[in-house]
Amino acid sequence: MSLVPFDTSCVFIDGRWRSGDSGQTLALVNPSDGSELARIARGNAADIDAAVRAAQAALDGPGATEGERTGPWGRLTAAERGRILLKMSALALEQADELARLEALDVGKPLKQGRADAVALARYLEFYGGAADKVHGETIPFANGYTALTLREPHGVTAHIVPWNYPMQIIGRSVGAALAMGNACVLKPAEEACLTALAFARIAEAAGLPAGTLNVVPGLGEEAGAALSAHRDVRHISFTGSVPVGTLIQTAAAKNAIPVTLELGGKSPQIVFADADLDAALPFLVNAGIQNAGQTCSAASRILVERPVFDTVMARMAERYRALRMGPALDDLDIGPVISARQREIVQGYLDVVRDSGLRIAAQAPLPASLPASGYWVPPTLVADVAADHRIAQEEIFGPVQALIPFDGEPEALRIANGTPYGLVAGVWTRDGSRALRMARKLQCGQVFVNNYGAGGGIELPFGGVKHSGHGREKGFEALYGFSVLKTVAIRHD
Ligand code: NAD
Repeated sequence: MSLVPFDTSCVFIDGRWRSGDSGQTLALVNPSDGSELARIARGNAADIDAAVRAAQAALDGPGATEGERTGPWGRLTAAERGRILLKMSALALEQADELARLEALDVGKPLKQGRADAVALARYLEFYGGAADKVHGETIPFANGYTALTLREPHGVTAHIVPWNYPMQIIGRSVGAALAMGNACVLKPAEEACLTALAFARIAEAAGLPAGTLNVVPGLGEEAGAALSAHRDVRHISFTGSVPVGTLIQTAAAKNAIPVTLELGGKSPQIVFADADLDAALPFLVNAGIQNAGQTCSAASRILVERPVFDTVMARMAERYRALRMGPALDDLDIGPVISARQREIVQGYLDVVRDSGLRIAAQAPLPASLPASGYWVPPTLVADVAADHRIAQEEIFGPVQALIPFDGEPEALRIANGTPYGLVAGVWTRDGSRALRMARKLQCGQVFVNNYGAGGGIELPFGGVKHSGHGREKGFEALYGFSVLKTVAIRHD
């Protein structure tokens, strides 16, 4: 099976590839050189409505009475659903190189990062395929003469609105978990990067996922995305993206009284104590900041360093920065371009703030003269001695810029780490086990990593934020609870 060539300008609804209702298309741009890569459909409210109806029909089937699930997807057992997900996983793995190439061209990430994302997609599908028939309800000790139990049921039609930075990983964790629980999905990928979402639909087709179970409608956020989040027959929304759009999504969901999972931004710290194993920490301190050109929700954009080792950590990070190799995604170096001209402008704006505030630049990786001038390049930049309340240390930049912040002792580290509007991930580097536990308990965020950062992606580890980083959990087994509804049944039998 080959994923290409396929007509990228189609929507995928009810198992069919067709033009969008508007007949209009949008350009996908290759960030490495600014050229047009493909055309995608400009999906609109009519496409979204057709997609939601197809999903409903995959659950309910024709002429079903209310509450019956006789559709080709709705009538499958959990084990049968799991087997299809496992087939999708195997196909994704088989196609990992092709998927990596599509993601590299579309997002601008080096091939090896694209391949890691494709392998993660396969692993999500494997994890959720295996979990599909292992989610149990409970029996509850209740009053005499009763048997009480709980059932885990799908929401129904679920909406998945995803960003451009990690399409494959986010589709895997969100759509994978929703399908495992028996929901039927409408996926709205980001207008900046759509190719692997369309390839994912091809994989679903090839694996025998019944028509209508997964529908993919590319398009603009304010058109297709807004129509999907407001649709009255959608029963759950999983949104990954920015805080302002997340607020709009939650408002739309509130009007239909449906639950949402919001995976939003971050300003995540890695905290380096003076007793840390610096050799172990160094690669994580830099990579977690510059991976995907810093366009990662859990990017370690703040590096908090205890004063006795501040100069050493800064010097060693600077050395790594100067060695970073930057180039077009297909050259597969350390770092590629940012996603768009707009994103480059935003990041450049923050670099102007660094300059205008007189902040010291500890290191800036050089931009090679050989880079295509029309690509969206930003020099990776390490900023020294940033005050904890400075804009650079407070706002999500979403580019390869890290702020080094000195601290003295645990209480100050905690105050700085917790002192932003966000709370997604934190890393703690120390050889003191008690301190690691104290910190882990007091950090206000959804994940804490001790003496590592990110646990290699951690498909099994529940993920999500607090404060402006959002709410609800994806990844791991926990996601399966979010993509299902608990029904309680109390049977009186005396
Ligand atoms: P974005 O919010 O602009 O777009 C995300 C998605 O929402 C896209 O599909 C877009 O088309 C859609 N959208 C835009 N306007 C909409 C509207 N009015 N109604 C419905 N949908 C709409 O975000 P982005 O710029 O693509 O992504 C960057 C942001 O995503 C960053 O803040 C980053 O931290 C966050 N992010 C979070 C996670 C996480 O897991 N927490 C992961 C990746 C990215």
